[in-house]
Formats: sequence, structure tokens, C-alpha cells
Amino acid sequence: NADTAMYRAKDAGRNNFQFYAHEMNSRALDRLKTETGLRRALERGEFVVHYQPQMDVATGRVIGAEALLRWELPGQGMVFPADFIPIAEETGLIVPIGQWVLRHVCEQKRKWHDAGWFPDLRIAVNLSARQFKQQDIARAVSQVLQETGCRPEWLELEITESVVMESPEAAAETLHKLSTMGVHLSIDDFGTGYSSLSYLKRFPLDALKIDRSFVRDVTVDADDAAIVRAVIALAHSLKLSVIAEGVETADHLDFLRAQQCDAVQGYHLGRPMPVDKFEHFMRESK
Ligand code: C2E
Ligand code: MG
Ligand code: MG
Ligand code: MG
Repeated sequence: NADTAMYRAKDAGRNNFQFYAHEMNSRALDRLKTETGLRRALERGEFVVHYQPQMDVATGRVIGAEALLRWELPGQGMVFPADFIPIAEETGLIVPIGQWVLRHVCEQKRKWHDAGWFPDLRIAVNLSARQFKQQDIARAVSQVLQETGCRPEWLELEITESVVMESPEAAAETLHKLSTMGVHLSIDDFGTGYSSLSYLKRFPLDALKIDRSFVRDVTVDADDAAIVRAVIALAHSLKLSVIAEGVETADHLDFLRAQQCDAVQGYHLGRPMPVDKFEHFMRESK
């Protein structure tokens, strides 16, 4: 409580403590603003989804797209996930927000299907820790698929390595439910956490996504190159496909192609784009 904090600050008569109390107060205020803002954003429809293409390295075809959330805050422009996802996660608002993303993406995919557009395009949606740990996440996903007429195989769910490895037994159960439905599953930001290989083997996964921190210097840093090669080999020996994120240059792509990486995603191919720009990109890329 700010008043108490200020009172005690006065009591203590120390400037640094007063400063500290003020800091706490304004940070709490910021958080409150964002939390209220996020609630309002959902009600007022301020969220938009951008799509970033994913390319099959061998054929050069766009085989998928990752759905990435943006917040268009009136008067302030676009807010990126790094500035609101952590608060959404902390407050639990990520659950309704994530639900909105999933529904929105499934509706979009269904529209494309009905128009006969991009039939082979699978859309990847990020699942947050809170969402993944929800009691009835598989049922929630299944319900959205049913209500939107989106087929499970059109959808891929990305879960980060740290989330599945936090409690692997529970994660295995959830992953099996989702996989049985026919939804594709991938591990996001692979290499940044600690994976138990015995669990990795038991999870019904389709793909590993190599974190972009390993890709950035892959052509100049021998350690990063070794890690990327090892992840590709690991994925293939587990019969998983492997996709590299953060592919920004032709050199990155050449390296990854030489190492038999299956797919790539990154600025070199295309940035995350609003839906109309993405549709244009897809028509041009054929
Ligand atoms: P992520 O799932 O690992 O997504 C990839 C991030 O890398 C995206 O950042 C994307 O714009 C960025 N990126 C793609 N290619 C390149 C590249 O070549 N170079 C560089 N430097 N960056 C690249 P973004 O869109 O800011 O999203 C950040 C994170 O926020 C995502 O990381 C994901 O963890 C989270 N996020 C985004 N949308 C959602 C969502 O709908 N739900 C949840 N739970 N999390 C989301
Ligand atoms: Mg992702
Ligand atoms: Mg990622
Ligand atoms: Mg990442």
C-alpha cells in the first residue's frame, strides 16, 4: 500500500527509502494500467494477429506461418508481445487472450480454406505456460476447432521447452491428448532450457524449433554451429522435423540447408505481417 509505504518512508527519514517507495508505487501503477488496458483491449478488439511465413528448405515452398500477437493501442501504435505478454501471464489474462488468438487463427484458416487459398498452409499458435497448464486445455482447443470448422491438422501448437520440462509427466499427458486429436505439436525456443532426452523421446511431438539465439552467429561462432548441428541431428534421430527461427541472411539459410535443416523462419524470408500483406506475400511466393 502506497500510503503506508510513504508514511514509513517519512518515519525513517531516509531519502533512499522514500525513493524506493516511490519506485514501487509507480511500477504498480504501470502494471495496473497495462492490466486494465489488456482487459479493455480484449473487449474493444485492439488485438491483431500477424503471420510470419515458414519455408520448407528443400522445396522453397511456404508450408506454414506462425501467428504472432500484436496490440494496437489507440494513440500509441503497435505494442509487441515482450511488453505485455509477461503481465498477461502474471495476471492470468493470458488465458482469455490466448483463447482469443486461437479462435481468431482458426477462423482465419477456415476462411482461407473456404476461398480455396493456401490449402497446405499450417498455422502455428504459441501456447503460454498458463494456457498449457490449464486443466482442460485439450478440450478448449477441441471446442474451438469444432466451432470454427478448422481441422486439427491445419493447426500447430508451440510450447516452450521450459514449460514442458517443468513438469514433464503432466506435460506428456496433455501433449498426448492434443496429439490424439490430430493437432501438430512443436517445442519452441529449443536449446534455451534443459531438456530431458528420455522425456523428449516420449512426447508425441512433430517438430523442434531451434531458438534464434543460436542462429544469429551460426556462420561465425563455432559453438553455435556445433549446437545447431547437434539439435538437427537430435531431432532427426527422434524422427522429428526441425525448424530454425531468426534466419536473417542468405548465409544463415545456406548453412542450415547444408546441415539438412527442414524448415526456416525469419526476416530473410519474411517478417511477421498483417493478414492482407501476408495474403499478398503468399500469392507472390507461388
Ligand atoms: P517466439 O514464439 O519465439 O516467436 C518468434 C519471435 O521472433 C517473434 O517475435 C518474431 O517476430 C521474431 N522473429 C522472427 N524472425 C526473426 C528474425 O529473423 N530476427 C529477429 N531478430 N527476430 C525474428 P515477437 O512477435 O515479438 O514475439 C515474441 C514472443 O512473444 C514470441 O516468441 C512468443 O513467445 C510470444 N508470443 C507472440 N505471440 C503470442 C501469442 O499469441 N501467445 C503467446 N502465449 N505468446 C506469444
Ligand atoms: Mg513461437
Ligand atoms: Mg520461438
Ligand atoms: Mg524464440
